[in-house]
Amino acid sequence: MEATHKTIGPLPSVDQLIQQTRHLPIPRRLRKRLIQEQLQQWRDQQTLPAKGDISSLVEQGLCRFDQMRLRCVVNATGIVLHTNLGRAPLPLDLNSAIFQSLGYNNLELDLSTGKRGKRGLWVEKALATICQSPSSTVVNNCAAALMLILMAARRDAQSEVILSRGELVQIGGGFRIPEILESAGIRLREVGTTNHTTLEDYRRAIGDHTVMILKVHQSNFAMTGFVASPPLKALADLAREHDCPLVFDLGSGALVDTKEHFDIDREITPAEAIHQGVDLVCFSGDKLMGGPQAGIIAGNTTHINHLKQHPMFRALRIDKVTLGVLEQVAEHHLVSQDDPEHPETPSLPAYGGLSITMEVLEARTQCILESIGGNLNGVEQVDLSGGVGGGTMPTTALPSLGLGITSPDQPADRIADFFRNQPTPIIGHVSQKTFYLNLRTVLPEQDSLLIAALKAWKSHSGH
Ligand SMILES: *Cc1c(COP(=O)(O)O)cnc(C)c1O
Repeated sequence: MEATHKTIGPLPSVDQLIQQTRHLPIPRRLRKRLIQEQLQQWRDQQTLPAKGDISSLVEQGLCRFDQMRLRCVVNATGIVLHTNLGRAPLPLDLNSAIFQSLGYNNLELDLSTGKRGKRGLWVEKALATICQSPSSTVVNNCAAALMLILMAARRDAQSEVILSRGELVQIGGGFRIPEILESAGIRLREVGTTNHTTLEDYRRAIGDHTVMILKVHQSNFAMTGFVASPPLKALADLAREHDCPLVFDLGSGALVDTKEHFDIDREITPAEAIHQGVDLVCFSGDKLMGGPQAGIIAGNTTHINHLKQHPMFRALRIDKVTLGVLEQVAEHHLVSQDDPEHPETPSLPAYGGLSITMEVLEARTQCILESIGGNLNGVEQVDLSGGVGGGTMPTTALPSLGLGITSPDQPADRIADFFRNQPTPIIGHVSQKTFYLNLRTVLPEQDSLLIAALKAWKSHSGH
């Protein structure tokens, strides 16, 4: 068997390697540090990879490092809100007010009085209008929103939050509801069972130390069969009776009727939850809202004001970049509802991936195939299915179309590598021997990138 490592010999100097890699777009000091770390690692291990000379190994390592910079990729996975790919794609209008306001702006200046102003008042009013709630505010993300709500509710070490056992969930990496409660210094009072929780279960649990009834959307999994939980309205009435706030972590936060607009499962909207009597809702800005990372909180004015006075609010606030994008996304939502009888789908890129029709997908796929000269061996149109993603609607499949690419002499992972290494990386998915490009999530203006990559593949694979 060929050895993959060889014993270390004399290594070139750091200065020499810095010189040899000066064509790379990495600032010198950063390059120096990376080179020093690499040389140190080889010295510690007393071995070198057997393949390639030292300069080219160093250069490869630097190039791999540079790939970690934030850059544009083509989402050909079919997953609309892909957490690895930045969740909701944002509207990219370079002439928009956001880009003009990145320098000095009126973030905390009241232009009508010239005095100090409060950040985010416009977006708070806009979000409250969208959620049909008395008040609203925004923090860093939905995890931060929930954390803030819990910390602000805590009275003392005995403070308890009531939560159904069916909602003791984990959302993505490291976000587990029981651990969040614990770190907020709040006791968890579990009620009901995994699949069945009744109003009576909640009623029996309410006591002197109860500071909140919490509901958490089971975003990323689904339960079927013998499943029950009390109607939200009944739970809200119970909470009111005991003067205890009801908080609903909605997670994905569908602001539009997802059945009507996209013909997919219906999610409760923040406005509906508030109408049913929930005191506070929170949801992510970058899931079904189609905006930037943010945690939106809406509901009762007293509660919202209380949150805004908590010291943690300052630590969790959003910056001017997020604020600018969020204002624009909120505006899209409001404008789309100008005629309440005929609400339109907000013109946001995330909704393009949800609302695109099979006819359009078919036409685009055909157009791509024609542009590459048709009939390419090992590239063919295939029926695919996509998903909403972002830990939302796990059972919803979105029918889709795209291309399946196979090669007689290369495994599908190699094909995936080839597409991922294009000037604009193209991210698809591999299943068995085929690499798939799912058109549903490819932004229409990026079809030309797919065409260029497919042509490159054609000459690379020699078909
Ligand atoms: C996604 C999700 C969160 C976390 O939202 P982030 O904005 O990513 O912090 C919290 N709760 C629920 C129910 C979620 O689905």
